[in-house]
Amino acid sequence: MVKRSIVFSIIICMLILLGGCSSQPTVIEHKAENGHLDLTQYHLKNEIIPLDGDWAFYWDQLLEPASMDQGQLSGYVSFPSSWNKYEINGEKIPGSGYATYRLNFTTAEKQILALKILKVRTAYKLWVNGELITSAGTVGTTRESMIPKYLPQVVAFNAQPGDNEIVLQISNFYRPSGGLLNSILIGGETQLLKMRYLDLSYELFLFGALMMMGVYHLALFLFRRKDKAPLYFGLFCTLVAIRTLFIGEAFLFSFFQALDFESIYKIQTLSFYLGVPLILMFFRSILPLYFNPLIIRSTQIIAGAYTLVVLFTPTWIAAIINPLYQIWTVLMIVYLFAMLIKIALHREKNSGLIILGCLFLIATCFIDIIALSDLINDSSPPLLRMIFQGDANSSTGQLIFAALYSLLLAKTFSESLEYRTVMGEKLAEMNTHLDELVAQRTTDLTVSNQKVEQQNLELEQINQELQRLSLNDPLTGLRNRRKYKETVGLEWQRCLNHHKPVSLLFIDVDYFKNYNDLYGHVAGDECLIKIGETLKASLSRSSDMAVRYGGEEFLVLLPETGKEDALKIAALILKKIESLAIPHAGSVVKNCITISIGVATLLPSLHSRHEDLVKIADKALYHAKSQGRNQVSYRDE
Ligand code: GH3
Ligand code: MG
Ligand code: MG
Repeated sequence: MVKRSIVFSIIICMLILLGGCSSQPTVIEHKAENGHLDLTQYHLKNEIIPLDGDWAFYWDQLLEPASMDQGQLSGYVSFPSSWNKYEINGEKIPGSGYATYRLNFTTAEKQILALKILKVRTAYKLWVNGELITSAGTVGTTRESMIPKYLPQVVAFNAQPGDNEIVLQISNFYRPSGGLLNSILIGGETQLLKMRYLDLSYELFLFGALMMMGVYHLALFLFRRKDKAPLYFGLFCTLVAIRTLFIGEAFLFSFFQALDFESIYKIQTLSFYLGVPLILMFFRSILPLYFNPLIIRSTQIIAGAYTLVVLFTPTWIAAIINPLYQIWTVLMIVYLFAMLIKIALHREKNSGLIILGCLFLIATCFIDIIALSDLINDSSPPLLRMIFQGDANSSTGQLIFAALYSLLLAKTFSESLEYRTVMGEKLAEMNTHLDELVAQRTTDLTVSNQKVEQQNLELEQINQELQRLSLNDPLTGLRNRRKYKETVGLEWQRCLNHHKPVSLLFIDVDYFKNYNDLYGHVAGDECLIKIGETLKASLSRSSDMAVRYGGEEFLVLLPETGKEDALKIAALILKKIESLAIPHAGSVVKNCITISIGVATLLPSLHSRHEDLVKIADKALYHAKSQGRNQVSYRDE
């Protein structure tokens, strides 16, 4: 990814630079001397030659070709340059004023040639061979009498064989420096027009490219307000795009000639003033850790104050305060440069792209400031002149900066988009997993619920079984002694309430010890089981209860049963057991199993206790045994 973006940036830089370099004029070493230039050796129809060198200079005089002789020559000045840096009689020439320049050049033949003139500060009038060829604005001797105008153009004239004369009047009361900033080119009209249109198209390309980037990033911001970087960047691109219309061939001036000098100057100045805080705000939005908010705030305040001054005061005030703003801008460039070094040292993400793009921007500002300060003139080396006086160079640099940072923003934007997509996918995956997990957990829960239910059911059964086991006798299935104790109290109370008697049969198997001895314990147990079944079968009411009281002893509790009925039931049981006809060779009374029954009947009262029932029935049983067994005995107490 890093490599791809670097390759892409290099391609962008090369393409833009190629476009910018295509129309540089041929720089010749041959220069005018003492206001004279010999061009006879050139085929001017096919070549473009800058009319650089020493021109005759008449300061404070507006001379026409006819009155040139009356002029007083102030000296020779090097073209192109502003006049400010020259001195006359030891006195520095001020920025405001007017002057006439003259150049004589010789050509070999009579031909139609053309001159290509860019910006002249700030109005001019031009004659060739005595004929007024062109002008821009109105030349005047006072601020009031002149009308400033920038009007880059190509104008044709008739060249004579031999000597030709160019007379150029310039006046300036509107900018800090006056004169000619760019070379006047001479050559074939087609050649020069081609050059102008090439430059124009390149500048329009710069404008279009910057504008597209501006609009694109502003739209990005419009749809995603959270991220401010595209806003600042889009505004910055738009500002630089607008600036492009004023530079070089100055497309805007040629097509909107009605625009007045003041407004143009204000727009141009504002585009510079506002660019500084914008670019810092942009850098802070993409690299918040590096840019001090205080510095950015102060830049905003200063730019705001300057903007107000430019908007609401005459341009000459702005022209005076301009250098101070440039100093501030230089400070900010130094600050930006320092932060770049910091970014490089910290190996910040995308630092290669950030630094490369920013270096172009810094170089651009540097070029602008140098160009504005008139440090570079015709005596500087050609390469420096090409760099600093080529008007479109700063915009080229800004376009490269803009292109590289568009790439950076696109990269971070798509990276964050990619990140979101991946996160979204992960989230969706997690969601589906979550569904699965929830489904799994639900099933698990259902299963465990079922298990718990099952276990509860089993527990219930175990409980019931335990209950059954604890209250029943395992061998015969009759109620056990514990259940009897539980029940007898309740029945006793119930009968007490209803004033009903309670009866109890105490049953004991006769000579059972003998039976075991003779037939074994297993047979004994089987015998007990049969007796138990018989007892159960003999009971008619639900409240009647047969109990295995212990060993071969049984109780039959008969609530709400009087003595008569109890005796009847006892007799019936006695008979039934005998009729089971279980052989018993060891019995003294019969040759089969028999039982003895003691009966007790009590009417529950406050003075009687249910424990008495067993005691009395036991006594009755003892009586039945002693009377010969296999019989029922009743006792009152
Ligand atoms: P009696 O006519 O006086 O009652 O004579 P008996 O031999 O039945 O004397 P007793 O009632 O004192 O004897 C109890 C005997 O019953 C002792 C034991 O051999 C037998 N026995 C007690 N419980 C069980 C039991 O659960 N199974 C079996 N097979 N025998 C038992
Ligand atoms: Mg016994
Ligand atoms: Mg017995």
